[in-house]
Amino acid sequence: PNTQYELLRRRIYSNTQELWYFFHSSLLDIQKRANEVAPELVDSISYLLNLGLEHKRSLIYDIEQLSEVDGYATWREKESNDLSNLVQERFKYLQNPENCNTARKLVCSLNKGCGYGCQLHHAVYCFMVAYGTKRTLILKSKGWRYHKGGWEEIFKPASDTCTNPSGESVSNWPGNQDTQVLNLPIIDSLSPRPPFLPLAIPEDLAPRLTRLHGDPIVWWVGQILKYLLRPQEKTASRIQETMTKMGFQRPIVGVHVRRTDKVGTEAAFHGIEEYMSHVDEYFNHLELKQTVDKRRVYLASDDPKVLAEARSKYPHYEIIGDPSISKTAAVSTRYSDSSLFGIIMDIHMLSMSDYLVCTFSSQVCRVAYEIMQNYYPDASARFRSLDDIYYYGGQNPHNVVAALPHKPKRNGEMSIEVGDSIGIAGNHWNGFSKGRNLRTNQVAFYPSFKVKDKIETAKFPTYTEIYK
Ligand code: GDP
Repeated sequence: PNTQYELLRRRIYSNTQELWYFFHSSLLDIQKRANEVAPELVDSISYLLNLGLEHKRSLIYDIEQLSEVDGYATWREKESNDLSNLVQERFKYLQNPENCNTARKLVCSLNKGCGYGCQLHHAVYCFMVAYGTKRTLILKSKGWRYHKGGWEEIFKPASDTCTNPSGESVSNWPGNQDTQVLNLPIIDSLSPRPPFLPLAIPEDLAPRLTRLHGDPIVWWVGQILKYLLRPQEKTASRIQETMTKMGFQRPIVGVHVRRTDKVGTEAAFHGIEEYMSHVDEYFNHLELKQTVDKRRVYLASDDPKVLAEARSKYPHYEIIGDPSISKTAAVSTRYSDSSLFGIIMDIHMLSMSDYLVCTFSSQVCRVAYEIMQNYYPDASARFRSLDDIYYYGGQNPHNVVAALPHKPKRNGEMSIEVGDSIGIAGNHWNGFSKGRNLRTNQVAFYPSFKVKDKIETAKFPTYTEIYK
């Protein structure tokens, strides 16, 4: 298929969603006001909401069908495999230099004082810089807070042949081309910043990824996680056993409810009803395509009370989850061996689900979403975040480009000319996103459908010598 066709297909899909977010949220507002001043209108508004939802569902269904009948499904599968094989080959080559004693290295310590998702993202960032500077990544992980024995006892080592961090010359980032060993700090204190940081993807892959995938940076992160998270045999069989024991079965929606220390500091509280309304809608939609014998949810949370609450409020659902995993996720017990297996399991199950409902303010759910990309040619639309849009901690500004002009109709709306770059802060899931217009510096709301994402690229090495 040509790229324009794929972009258009995805754009119609997401703008149909946006159209519905807009009407749904506006109608709810009007209904609230009608309740007070014109109660006789409340029923008519409910009618609009209900039939409107059916309209939207049917439209989305048809758009999804397009990708099944346009004849490109096999191409998408193959292109996705080819691209993944290509970068996995490059990773293997980078990580297994012929001579480790003389190889250029990038050393990264897994000692960031944060949670598992945050640490995975730290390792992924290190890998991006390693790939960008063509240095073998050495992951130092002895004494890791989640497993004192180190990363390699759980996952395959980042290299089969080269794990020794020493070398002739050692320096802190940035060093120079000839420094054999470079120590990389955490992304927050990285200076100078190389061009290889998110949201940039390798320029040589960009045309293919732009065509294949709705959010190429998520694909790119997913590929690095695929490499780093190759499980040791023991880990793999433990995951497999636990999955079978829990009765993990599709179709299933993965729900991640992040509570405890996150609420009130980095994220707002969201009741289980809010998550479940999106789960309901997922299944209502799915039922247009197939009969659903059982509505299933995999529920992960750091608050063990959530599972019991969900099971009692949604008895017609089969809610899979393990309260003992949640218990090890509490702040007081979080950094231990038992909690490590729990969070590995939860992320695995979430990523294996058909759809994710969660808060992207949590790295746990972002990691699950990234890994999910490994199971489909393009899983970029298989989520609903209750708060943030996707981001990568420490990323460069996320800019979008205006495809349509906008004249403010209400207070707080942005003036836009076609071609304006806008730094996006967030989607409010009501048809509007907030951002800063980089031409005018105005911080305001704009209709989300009026912009297009901009794919950022950087000149990463292209590893052509592999094919010689
Ligand atoms: P964030 O704080 O939510 O952005 O994500 P982090 O991964 O950086 O830190 C949160 C940590 O809390 C995780 O790594 C887990 O140790 C724990 N945690 C949070 N949510 C869950 C969950 O649903 N299941 C499990 N097992 N642990 C969780």
